[in-house]
Amino acid sequence: MIDDARWWEMRAAASGAARSYTCPFCGERLHAGMEHVLLKPEGDSSRRRHAHVTCFAEARRDGRLPTVDEWRRATREADEQRQRGDGGDPERGADAR
Ligand SMILES: [Zn+2]
Repeated sequence: MIDDARWWEMRAAASGAARSYTCPFCGERLHAGMEHVLLKPEGDSSRRRHAHVTCFAEARRDGRLPTVDEWRRATREADEQRQRGDGGDPERGADAR
């Protein structure tokens, strides 16, 4: 299973190491030397995961792997919504008063 993280650092990797890894998305093995994607939850190298390119692409498409830029943008939008007060619902705002 993939770690719980607010954002992910990600890059393509083609390991020449004889070691093989388990993909966190499908649980299948990555073969040594195979092109894959290196994922670091919140940039943490100690928790890095190696995933299949296809599994990674699917997770990105589903929005499960935000980059730090996407996370910052989402956080900023949430902050702006809070600052506006009632989240754009006029009825709920009237009730609060
Ligand atoms: Zn996989």
